[in-house]
Amino acid sequence: MFMAKGKAKVGGLTVARHVVQVVMACLFCVPLFAAGWTVLGRYAGGDDAVATPSELPVWGSLSSSQILGIDLLDPFAALQVIVASKSVASAMLWVLPILILYVLIRGRVFCGWVCPVNLFLEVVDWIRGRLGIKVSEMPVPRWVKPVVAAAVLVLSAIVSVPIFEMVSPVGALNRAILFGSTLGLWTLVAIVIVELFWGHRVWCRSLCPLGGFYQTIGAVGLLSVKIDHDACISCNLCKKACLCDPSILDAAVAGEADRVASGDCMLCGKCVDHCPKDALKIGVAVPKDLSL
Ligand code: SF4
Ligand code: SF4
Ligand code: SF4
Repeated sequence: MFMAKGKAKVGGLTVARHVVQVVMACLFCVPLFAAGWTVLGRYAGGDDAVATPSELPVWGSLSSSQILGIDLLDPFAALQVIVASKSVASAMLWVLPILILYVLIRGRVFCGWVCPVNLFLEVVDWIRGRLGIKVSEMPVPRWVKPVVAAAVLVLSAIVSVPIFEMVSPVGALNRAILFGSTLGLWTLVAIVIVELFWGHRVWCRSLCPLGGFYQTIGAVGLLSVKIDHDACISCNLCKKACLCDPSILDAAVAGEADRVASGDCMLCGKCVDHCPKDALKIGVAVPKDLSL
């Protein structure tokens, strides 16, 4: 077992990913701000807003939004609503664009490139490294989060409430950015304490049900980290850099697979950036073996 490292090499993919993460965090608040609506709980414009939110080209949140007239729903949020309400509304078709996109690319690309919690926890990671605090690398196995996702759906059906949406740190961070709301931020505070003192990225690697849902559909993604076995020197630096469970790289580094097949891979590109021999790249690979 190796310990979490504080210093991280920043390469091209990492820079691009952070730019996309910041753009996605701003995606819904900048149009609101420009139209004179509140952001972070403050009025940005004068007395009159120039447009209602629904007249803006982009409005909503990562759970439910409208972009250039296209309605979009987070598939896991929609699933919770379906099982909680025991009915399927036609609005549920709004999940299709996002579902198709992530099934085609790879489910956890949402985690790697879009989710604001990931960016936030990478900062927490960096702070813990600077403080020199040592934590366990994988105290909880990665298969736990699809199980948590299934448990969330069962519980939502039993109590008739989409329960993860009530406590989701993703939704809480979204509300904080948009409205300055502190509602639900306790979840994020608890996650930060656990990450600082117990387990390296334990929430995103092993516990988050939304990550578990995307891990499950990620097993069939067309984009993968591919390896050039002739270039690889088995230094394991890619595993030390991996944002997910480092063991997802085992088969590729051992020469037993030509790509990282696990649906857990979030295509963050940190392994690619850290490889001293340029043995890794992200590319199209038709899935032959399905793996969580
Ligand atoms: S695991 Fe959950 S919190 Fe972490 S990046 Fe994915 S969706 Fe966001
Ligand atoms: S960092 Fe590159 S060279 Fe080192 S084990 Fe990983 S793929 Fe091989
Ligand atoms: S295998 Fe590479 S791209 Fe996939 S999560 Fe790990 S570091 Fe990121």
